[in-house]
Amino acid sequence: MSKTIQQASLCALGRTAPNPALSTLRYFRDEYLEHISNHRCPAGVCKKLTEFYIDPELCTGCGRCRRRCPAEAIGGEKKKAHQINIAKCIKCGECINNCNFRAVKVK
Ligand code: SF4
Ligand code: SF4
Repeated sequence: MSKTIQQASLCALGRTAPNPALSTLRYFRDEYLEHISNHRCPAGVCKKLTEFYIDPELCTGCGRCRRRCPAEAIGGEKKKAHQINIAKCIKCGECINNCNFRAVKVK
């Protein structure tokens, strides 16, 4: 469609407007396909396609994410692996930003 727009446009704006779409398709084709085919956002940017979880192997149970979570969606005992309650999570990203152990992941 972008190529047709470029070829059929009578003005310079029409000929250049599709360039961002064409460039991102060229360099990020895998990401487009992941969104369309698997309904996943590998970069963790599209909230509707994102789910946060805690890797129990990496979580030290420090509780920092639990204290920072604005939705009280994180539970767990001190020094034990914590968990995220997906039903409560508003996908704000505070937990991932505040975990010093890279234990919060996005899928
Ligand atoms: S901040 Fe990280 S290490 Fe600490 S409880 Fe949360 S997920 Fe675990
Ligand atoms: S993304 Fe936000 S709401 Fe969801 S668990 Fe992390 S801090 Fe809580």
